Amino acid sequence: MLIKKQEKTLQDRFGRQHDYLRLSITDRCNLRCVYCMPEEGLPFFPHEKVLSATEIITLVKHFAKMGIKKVRLTGGEPLLRKDILEIAAGIKAIDEIEDLSVTTNGLALPRMAADLKKAGVDRLNISLDTFDAKKYHQMTRGGKLEKVLAGIDAASQQGFKAIKLNTVVINGQNQTELRDFLRYTITQPVNVRFIEFMPIASQKKNWTQGYAGVKEVFTICQTEGWAYEKMTLSGNGPSENYQIKGAKGSFGLIHPVSCQFCESCNRLRVTADGCLKSCLYWADEINLRNKLDDAAAFEAAVVTALNDKPENHQMALDEQEKVKERQPTWRHMSQIGG
Ligand code: SAM
Ligand code: SF4
Repeated sequence: MLIKKQEKTLQDRFGRQHDYLRLSITDRCNLRCVYCMPEEGLPFFPHEKVLSATEIITLVKHFAKMGIKKVRLTGGEPLLRKDILEIAAGIKAIDEIEDLSVTTNGLALPRMAADLKKAGVDRLNISLDTFDAKKYHQMTRGGKLEKVLAGIDAASQQGFKAIKLNTVVINGQNQTELRDFLRYTITQPVNVRFIEFMPIASQKKNWTQGYAGVKEVFTICQTEGWAYEKMTLSGNGPSENYQIKGAKGSFGLIHPVSCQFCESCNRLRVTADGCLKSCLYWADEINLRNKLDDAAAFEAAVVTALNDKPENHQMALDEQEKVKERQPTWRHMSQIGG
Protein backbone atom coordinates (compact mmCIF):
# COMPACT_ATOMS: atom_id res chain seq x y z
CA MET A 1 0.00 0.00 0.00
CA LEU A 2 1.27 3.45 -0.89
CA ILE A 3 1.63 5.57 2.25
CA LYS A 4 1.15 9.25 1.51
CA LYS A 5 3.97 11.38 2.91
CA GLN A 6 2.70 13.53 5.78
CA GLU A 7 3.08 17.17 4.71
CA LYS A 8 4.43 19.53 7.34
CA THR A 9 2.22 22.54 7.85
CA LEU A 10 2.55 25.83 9.59
CA GLN A 11 -0.89 26.29 11.06
CA ASP A 12 -1.92 29.01 13.47
CA ARG A 13 -4.61 28.91 16.15
CA PHE A 14 -7.23 30.12 13.67
CA GLY A 15 -6.50 27.23 11.30
CA ARG A 16 -4.67 29.37 8.74
CA GLN A 17 -1.96 27.46 6.84
CA HIS A 18 1.25 29.32 6.05
CA ASP A 19 3.32 28.36 3.02
CA TYR A 20 4.56 31.78 1.93
CA LEU A 21 7.59 33.62 3.30
CA ARG A 22 8.33 37.25 2.49
CA LEU A 23 11.94 37.90 3.15
CA SER A 24 13.34 41.39 3.36
CA ILE A 25 17.03 41.19 2.49
CA THR A 26 17.91 44.86 3.04
CA ASP A 27 16.37 47.95 4.58
CA ARG A 28 18.34 50.19 2.20
CA CYS A 29 16.78 51.85 -0.77
CA ASN A 30 17.71 54.18 -3.61
CA LEU A 31 14.25 55.83 -3.50
CA ARG A 32 12.20 57.48 -0.74
CA CYS A 33 8.61 56.83 -1.81
CA VAL A 34 6.18 59.15 -0.06
CA TYR A 35 4.05 56.31 1.34
CA CYS A 36 6.96 54.16 2.48
CA MET A 37 9.72 56.25 4.02
CA PRO A 38 9.87 59.64 5.70
CA GLU A 39 11.29 62.48 3.61
CA GLU A 40 14.42 62.74 5.72
CA GLY A 41 15.10 59.02 5.17
CA LEU A 42 15.79 56.50 7.93
CA PRO A 43 18.97 55.44 9.67
CA PHE A 44 19.83 52.18 7.89
CA PHE A 45 20.79 49.08 9.88
CA PRO A 46 24.57 48.72 10.13
CA HIS A 47 25.84 45.99 7.77
CA GLU A 48 26.62 43.59 10.62
CA LYS A 49 22.97 43.72 11.72
CA VAL A 50 21.74 42.42 8.35
CA LEU A 51 21.54 38.68 7.61
CA SER A 52 24.31 37.40 5.33
CA ALA A 53 23.56 35.31 2.22
CA THR A 54 24.53 32.14 4.09
CA GLU A 55 22.26 33.02 7.01
CA ILE A 56 19.35 33.79 4.66
CA ILE A 57 19.71 30.44 2.89
CA THR A 58 19.96 28.57 6.21
CA LEU A 59 16.86 30.38 7.44
CA VAL A 60 14.87 29.43 4.33
CA LYS A 61 16.03 25.80 4.66
CA HIS A 62 14.61 25.70 8.20
CA PHE A 63 11.33 27.21 7.00
CA ALA A 64 11.16 24.83 4.03
CA LYS A 65 11.34 21.88 6.43
CA MET A 66 8.36 23.37 8.26
CA GLY A 67 6.13 23.85 5.20
CA ILE A 68 7.16 27.04 3.39
CA LYS A 69 6.92 26.57 -0.39
CA LYS A 70 6.97 30.09 -1.79
CA VAL A 71 9.52 32.80 -1.07
CA ARG A 72 9.52 36.45 -2.06
CA LEU A 73 12.63 38.61 -1.76
CA THR A 74 11.87 42.20 -0.92
CA GLY A 75 13.36 45.15 0.97
CA GLY A 76 14.18 48.09 1.01
CA GLU A 77 15.36 47.59 -2.53
CA PRO A 78 16.48 43.94 -2.85
CA LEU A 79 18.45 44.55 -6.05
CA LEU A 80 20.84 46.78 -4.10
CA ARG A 81 22.31 43.64 -2.49
CA LYS A 82 25.47 42.68 -4.34
CA ASP A 83 24.90 39.04 -3.43
CA ILE A 84 21.24 38.91 -4.59
CA LEU A 85 22.06 36.31 -7.28
CA GLU A 86 23.80 34.07 -4.76
CA ILE A 87 20.80 34.42 -2.42
CA ALA A 88 18.29 33.68 -5.20
CA ALA A 89 20.19 30.66 -6.52
CA GLY A 90 20.70 29.29 -2.97
CA ILE A 91 16.98 29.52 -2.21
CA LYS A 92 15.98 28.09 -5.58
CA ALA A 93 18.19 25.06 -4.92
CA ILE A 94 16.13 24.11 -1.84
CA ASP A 95 13.95 21.16 -2.88
CA GLU A 96 10.77 22.24 -1.10
CA ILE A 97 10.76 25.77 -2.56
CA GLU A 98 8.42 25.76 -5.56
CA ASP A 99 8.27 29.45 -6.32
CA LEU A 100 10.72 32.32 -5.94
CA SER A 101 9.74 35.92 -6.64
CA VAL A 102 11.20 39.38 -6.16
CA THR A 103 9.51 42.72 -5.47
CA THR A 104 11.59 45.60 -6.81
CA ASN A 105 11.36 49.26 -7.78
CA GLY A 106 12.75 48.06 -11.12
CA LEU A 107 15.54 50.62 -11.49
CA ALA A 108 18.29 47.98 -11.69
CA LEU A 109 16.39 45.60 -13.97
CA PRO A 110 17.93 46.76 -17.26
CA ARG A 111 21.24 45.34 -16.05
CA MET A 112 19.96 42.54 -13.80
CA ALA A 113 16.79 41.03 -15.28
CA ALA A 114 18.61 38.32 -17.30
CA ASP A 115 20.79 37.26 -14.35
CA LEU A 116 17.82 37.10 -11.98
CA LYS A 117 16.04 34.79 -14.39
CA LYS A 118 19.15 32.61 -14.69
CA ALA A 119 19.48 32.49 -10.89
CA GLY A 120 16.00 30.95 -10.72
CA VAL A 121 13.63 33.84 -10.01
CA ASP A 122 10.18 32.83 -11.28
CA ARG A 123 8.17 36.03 -10.92
CA LEU A 124 8.70 39.76 -10.55
CA ASN A 125 6.58 42.47 -9.01
CA ILE A 126 7.68 45.91 -10.13
CA SER A 127 6.48 49.04 -8.37
CA LEU A 128 5.15 51.77 -10.64
CA ASP A 129 2.73 54.38 -9.36
CA THR A 130 2.54 56.78 -12.30
CA PHE A 131 3.31 57.20 -16.01
CA ASP A 132 4.08 60.87 -15.50
CA ALA A 133 7.83 61.52 -15.19
CA LYS A 134 7.41 64.60 -13.00
CA LYS A 135 5.01 62.85 -10.66
CA TYR A 136 7.24 59.76 -10.50
CA HIS A 137 10.11 61.99 -9.45
CA GLN A 138 7.89 63.57 -6.81
CA MET A 139 6.30 60.35 -5.47
CA THR A 140 9.60 58.49 -5.24
CA ARG A 141 11.46 61.64 -4.14
CA GLY A 142 14.05 61.55 -6.89
CA GLY A 143 13.37 58.54 -9.17
CA LYS A 144 13.58 58.67 -12.96
CA LEU A 145 10.56 57.17 -14.73
CA GLU A 146 12.49 56.19 -17.87
CA LYS A 147 14.66 53.87 -15.79
CA VAL A 148 11.80 51.83 -14.38
CA LEU A 149 10.09 51.70 -17.79
CA ALA A 150 13.36 50.37 -19.24
CA GLY A 151 13.42 47.87 -16.36
CA ILE A 152 9.92 46.65 -17.20
CA ASP A 153 10.95 46.28 -20.85
CA ALA A 154 14.10 44.36 -19.95
CA ALA A 155 12.17 42.03 -17.64
CA SER A 156 9.48 41.43 -20.27
CA GLN A 157 12.09 39.91 -22.58
CA GLN A 158 13.28 37.31 -20.07
CA GLY A 159 10.32 34.94 -19.96
CA PHE A 160 9.45 35.26 -16.26
CA LYS A 161 6.32 33.29 -15.34
CA ALA A 162 4.62 36.55 -14.41
CA ILE A 163 5.30 40.25 -14.19
CA LYS A 164 3.03 42.32 -12.02
CA LEU A 165 3.02 46.04 -11.44
CA ASN A 166 2.38 47.29 -7.91
CA THR A 167 0.56 50.61 -7.90
CA VAL A 168 -0.16 52.23 -4.55
CA VAL A 169 -3.12 54.55 -5.01
CA ILE A 170 -2.69 57.91 -3.28
CA ASN A 171 -5.33 60.61 -3.11
CA GLY A 172 -4.09 63.83 -4.74
CA GLN A 173 -1.11 62.10 -6.38
CA ASN A 174 -1.81 59.28 -8.82
CA GLN A 175 -5.50 58.66 -8.18
CA THR A 176 -6.30 60.50 -11.41
CA GLU A 177 -4.23 58.00 -13.40
CA LEU A 178 -6.21 54.86 -12.69
CA ARG A 179 -7.74 55.09 -16.16
CA ASP A 180 -4.25 55.12 -17.76
CA PHE A 181 -3.23 52.03 -15.79
CA LEU A 182 -6.42 50.22 -16.78
CA ARG A 183 -5.80 51.16 -20.41
CA TYR A 184 -2.23 49.84 -20.07
CA THR A 185 -3.60 46.39 -19.16
CA ILE A 186 -5.49 46.32 -22.46
CA THR A 187 -2.29 46.37 -24.52
CA GLN A 188 0.33 44.92 -22.13
CA PRO A 189 0.42 41.33 -20.79
CA VAL A 190 0.88 42.41 -17.17
CA ASN A 191 -1.23 42.31 -14.02
CA VAL A 192 -1.54 45.79 -12.48
CA ARG A 193 -2.29 45.56 -8.78
CA PHE A 194 -3.97 48.63 -7.29
CA ILE A 195 -2.90 48.67 -3.65
CA GLU A 196 -4.46 50.68 -0.84
CA PHE A 197 -2.12 52.95 1.09
CA MET A 198 -1.53 51.29 4.47
CA PRO A 199 -0.87 53.23 7.68
CA ILE A 200 2.45 51.77 8.74
CA ALA A 201 4.74 53.52 11.25
CA SER A 202 4.93 57.29 10.90
CA GLN A 203 2.90 57.17 7.70
CA LYS A 204 -0.17 57.76 9.85
CA LYS A 205 0.21 61.53 9.52
CA ASN A 206 -0.03 61.70 5.73
CA TRP A 207 -2.11 58.54 5.54
CA THR A 208 -5.36 60.26 6.50
CA GLN A 209 -4.88 62.72 3.63
CA GLY A 210 -3.48 60.22 1.17
CA TYR A 211 -5.69 57.17 1.66
CA ALA A 212 -7.98 56.42 -1.27
CA GLY A 213 -10.05 53.31 -1.85
CA VAL A 214 -9.39 51.33 -5.01
CA LYS A 215 -12.90 50.41 -6.07
CA GLU A 216 -13.17 53.51 -8.26
CA VAL A 217 -11.62 51.36 -11.01
CA PHE A 218 -15.02 49.76 -11.59
CA THR A 219 -16.69 53.13 -12.14
CA ILE A 220 -13.94 54.03 -14.62
CA CYS A 221 -14.46 50.78 -16.53
CA GLN A 222 -18.18 51.48 -16.71
CA THR A 223 -17.66 55.08 -17.88
CA GLU A 224 -15.24 53.93 -20.56
CA GLY A 225 -17.55 51.11 -21.65
CA TRP A 226 -14.95 48.45 -20.76
CA ALA A 227 -16.68 45.21 -19.85
CA TYR A 228 -14.64 43.24 -17.30
CA GLU A 229 -14.86 39.89 -15.64
CA LYS A 230 -13.45 38.28 -12.53
CA MET A 231 -10.58 35.89 -13.07
CA THR A 232 -8.23 33.64 -11.12
CA LEU A 233 -4.48 34.11 -11.32
CA SER A 234 -2.14 31.55 -9.80
CA GLY A 235 0.07 32.65 -6.92
CA ASN A 236 -1.79 35.91 -6.51
CA GLY A 237 -2.32 35.99 -2.77
CA PRO A 238 -4.81 38.55 -1.49
CA SER A 239 -5.42 40.27 -4.82
CA GLU A 240 -8.94 40.13 -6.31
CA ASN A 241 -8.39 39.91 -10.08
CA TYR A 242 -10.29 41.12 -13.12
CA GLN A 243 -9.76 41.40 -16.84
CA ILE A 244 -11.18 43.88 -19.29
CA LYS A 245 -12.70 41.83 -22.12
CA GLY A 246 -10.16 41.31 -24.89
CA ALA A 247 -7.26 42.76 -22.84
CA LYS A 248 -3.78 41.17 -22.89
CA GLY A 249 -3.27 41.91 -19.21
CA SER A 250 -5.43 42.10 -16.11
CA PHE A 251 -5.83 44.11 -12.94
CA GLY A 252 -6.06 43.26 -9.27
CA LEU A 253 -7.28 45.04 -6.17
CA ILE A 254 -5.45 44.78 -2.85
CA HIS A 255 -7.59 46.43 -0.22
CA PRO A 256 -6.37 45.56 3.26
CA VAL A 257 -7.87 48.75 4.71
CA SER A 258 -11.37 48.89 3.22
CA CYS A 259 -11.87 45.15 3.15
CA GLN A 260 -9.66 42.90 5.24
CA PHE A 261 -8.48 39.54 3.95
CA CYS A 262 -6.82 38.41 7.19
CA GLU A 263 -8.86 35.21 7.38
CA SER A 264 -6.96 33.87 4.36
CA CYS A 265 -3.50 35.16 5.37
CA ASN A 266 -0.88 32.55 4.46
CA ARG A 267 2.24 34.66 4.93
CA LEU A 268 5.07 35.09 7.34
CA ARG A 269 7.63 37.87 7.13
CA VAL A 270 11.27 38.04 8.10
CA THR A 271 13.02 41.39 8.28
CA ALA A 272 16.55 42.08 7.04
CA ASP A 273 17.80 41.92 10.64
CA GLY A 274 16.33 38.44 11.08
CA CYS A 275 13.09 39.09 12.98
CA LEU A 276 9.98 37.03 12.29
CA LYS A 277 6.74 38.99 12.01
CA SER A 278 3.55 36.96 11.84
CA CYS A 279 1.56 40.11 10.93
CA LEU A 280 2.67 43.13 8.90
CA TYR A 281 0.83 45.59 11.11
CA TRP A 282 1.63 44.75 14.71
CA ALA A 283 4.90 45.25 16.57
CA ASP A 284 5.21 41.64 17.77
CA GLU A 285 8.31 39.92 16.42
CA ILE A 286 10.78 37.20 17.36
CA ASN A 287 14.49 37.19 16.59
CA LEU A 288 15.41 34.14 14.50
CA ARG A 289 19.01 35.09 13.74
CA ASN A 290 20.26 33.77 17.07
CA LYS A 291 18.51 30.43 16.45
CA LEU A 292 19.87 29.58 13.01
CA ASP A 293 22.33 27.01 14.42
CA ASP A 294 19.69 25.22 16.44
CA ALA A 295 16.85 23.74 14.37
CA ALA A 296 14.76 22.85 17.43
CA ALA A 297 15.01 26.36 18.90
CA PHE A 298 14.23 27.82 15.46
CA GLU A 299 11.12 25.66 15.08
CA ALA A 300 9.98 26.44 18.61
CA ALA A 301 10.28 30.19 17.93
CA VAL A 302 8.26 29.91 14.72
CA VAL A 303 5.56 27.90 16.49
CA THR A 304 5.44 30.51 19.28
CA ALA A 305 4.99 33.29 16.71
CA LEU A 306 2.24 31.34 14.94
CA ASN A 307 0.43 30.63 18.19
CA ASP A 308 0.50 34.35 18.91
CA LYS A 309 -0.46 35.47 15.39
CA PRO A 310 -3.32 37.95 15.78
CA GLU A 311 -6.63 37.25 14.10
CA ASN A 312 -6.43 40.49 12.12
CA HIS A 313 -4.82 43.90 11.81
CA GLN A 314 -6.61 47.12 12.75
CA MET A 315 -5.70 49.45 9.89
CA ALA A 316 -9.22 50.40 8.98
CA LEU A 317 -10.22 54.01 8.93
CA ASP A 318 -12.73 53.75 11.73
CA GLU A 319 -10.23 52.05 13.99
CA GLN A 320 -7.58 54.76 13.90
CA GLU A 321 -8.90 56.48 17.01
CA LYS A 322 -9.80 53.34 18.93
CA VAL A 323 -7.60 51.78 21.56
CA LYS A 324 -5.79 48.95 19.82
CA GLU A 325 -5.38 45.44 21.13
CA ARG A 326 -1.64 45.51 20.61
CA GLN A 327 1.08 47.95 19.73
CA PRO A 328 1.36 48.75 15.98
CA THR A 329 4.84 48.21 14.54
CA TRP A 330 7.58 50.83 14.85
CA ARG A 331 9.02 49.68 11.52
CA HIS A 332 8.44 51.55 8.29
CA MET A 333 7.39 49.58 5.21
CA SER A 334 10.96 49.70 3.87
CA GLN A 335 12.08 47.93 7.05
CA ILE A 336 9.51 45.15 6.64
CA GLY A 337 9.21 44.60 2.91
CA GLY A 338 5.51 45.20 2.32
N1 SAM B 1 11.63 48.48 -3.02
C1 SAM B 1 10.81 47.47 -3.55
C2 SAM B 1 9.61 48.06 -4.25
O1 SAM B 1 9.32 49.24 -4.06
O2 SAM B 1 8.96 47.33 -4.98
C3 SAM B 1 10.37 46.44 -2.54
C4 SAM B 1 10.02 46.91 -1.16
S1 SAM B 1 8.53 47.86 -1.05
C5 SAM B 1 8.42 48.16 0.68
C6 SAM B 1 7.31 46.60 -1.34
C7 SAM B 1 5.95 47.11 -1.79
O3 SAM B 1 5.35 47.80 -0.71
C8 SAM B 1 5.99 48.09 -2.95
O4 SAM B 1 5.15 47.66 -4.00
C9 SAM B 1 5.47 49.37 -2.37
O5 SAM B 1 4.77 50.11 -3.32
C10 SAM B 1 4.60 48.87 -1.23
N2 SAM B 1 4.38 49.84 -0.16
C11 SAM B 1 5.31 50.56 0.51
N3 SAM B 1 4.72 51.33 1.46
C12 SAM B 1 3.39 51.09 1.38
C13 SAM B 1 2.26 51.56 2.10
N4 SAM B 1 2.37 52.43 3.11
N5 SAM B 1 1.05 51.08 1.76
C14 SAM B 1 0.91 50.17 0.76
N6 SAM B 1 1.93 49.68 0.05
C15 SAM B 1 3.17 50.13 0.36
FE1 SF4 C 1 12.16 52.03 -1.59
FE2 SF4 C 1 10.31 50.29 -2.33
FE3 SF4 C 1 9.94 51.84 -0.19
FE4 SF4 C 1 9.91 52.97 -2.58
S1 SF4 C 1 8.46 51.43 -1.81
S2 SF4 C 1 11.03 53.71 -0.76
S3 SF4 C 1 11.37 51.75 -3.66
S4 SF4 C 1 11.46 50.28 -0.39
